[in-house]
Amino acid sequence: NNQIKVAIVGYGNLGRGVELSILKNPDISLVAVFSRRDPKSVTTINTPVFSLDNILDYKDKVDVLILCGGSKDDLPIQGPLFAEHFNIVDSYDNHAKIPEYFENVDKSCQKNKKIGMISVGWDPGMFSINRLYGEALLPDGDTYTFWGKGLSQGHSDAIRRVNGVKAGVQYTIPSNDAITKVRSGVRPTLSTKDKHTRECFVVLNDDADAKKVENEIKTMPNYFEPYDTTVNFISQEEFDKNHNTMPHGGFVIRSGKSSDSVNQVIEYALKLDSNPEFTASVLVAYARATHKMALKGEFGAKTVFDVAPILLSSKSPIQLVKELL
Ligand code: NDP
Repeated sequence: NNQIKVAIVGYGNLGRGVELSILKNPDISLVAVFSRRDPKSVTTINTPVFSLDNILDYKDKVDVLILCGGSKDDLPIQGPLFAEHFNIVDSYDNHAKIPEYFENVDKSCQKNKKIGMISVGWDPGMFSINRLYGEALLPDGDTYTFWGKGLSQGHSDAIRRVNGVKAGVQYTIPSNDAITKVRSGVRPTLSTKDKHTRECFVVLNDDADAKKVENEIKTMPNYFEPYDTTVNFISQEEFDKNHNTMPHGGFVIRSGKSSDSVNQVIEYALKLDSNPEFTASVLVAYARATHKMALKGEFGAKTVFDVAPILLSSKSPIQLVKELL
């Protein structure tokens, strides 16, 4: 059996997404899910679950470990810890702290010559690659990243903390005006606030004052105050029916000049019905690449920038040249 043997650490939205994605990749087999919780309490689709405490027993049975824990509290510990003994792939997305995380994972990788493929997903991840391509191909230009329409976990949590709110979600929406301007090649100066609006759907407690809740949301510093925010009050029934998925997406646009009067615009767009399922699909392709890089003797912390596209595919180089070049 020459399938690539993969295991998952942490079974939340992303962990489940990785399990689903591997079903679409016949060259990869999922040997185990490891969880900090009691394995009997974790229900997967059809993968055996083991306690994370016993993970080192699987050192020689796993080619690549996909870390699916949260970026805030789990990965800063689990990344450096497991990169000592396994090739790992993760989706660490705390942009400001990526350099520090890279250093910590790299130190662990060096000990036993493992690969630590960090910050894989769509942002960071596929969007980062497209920002790099844009800059390299059109050095005289500007790069614009728009997010949405997408559910923002942080902003949804902030709504739910407002007095009188029973349930709430927030969608970040790219501003049409801003996108149109950028696509036209004029290269406007835009802040994050100019590029996005915020739309909230809220279910109120029976005794809540709608005007007060709306005002409290719209004036919340940092979260909503700087933005054009709309608040829609809906019933619990409508909330359960229409706001139970995790859509996301966005655009990376590079607008530049190849000579004084010649505009060139590059655009990469994602429209995702499920943010975790797409992020998981990216992680699985990079797990394949990580395995191929490890077989070639590479080691150390890596990012999407270090991976040649050919390594992501299950097809042979000659097949790719014939079919896709
Ligand atoms: P979850 O909160 O669903 O899961 C995180 C961890 O929490 C799991 O690994 C699991 O660990 C634990 N957990 C999950 N469900 C439960 C439960 N019912 N009770 C107790 N513990 C539970 O996070 P997501 O999977 O949605 O996201 C993970 C990370 O992915 C995010 O923090 C984000 O940083 C990153 N991400 C990156 C993207 C990118 O583009 N780079 C895009 C989207 C997300 P255990 O099994 O050990 O208990």
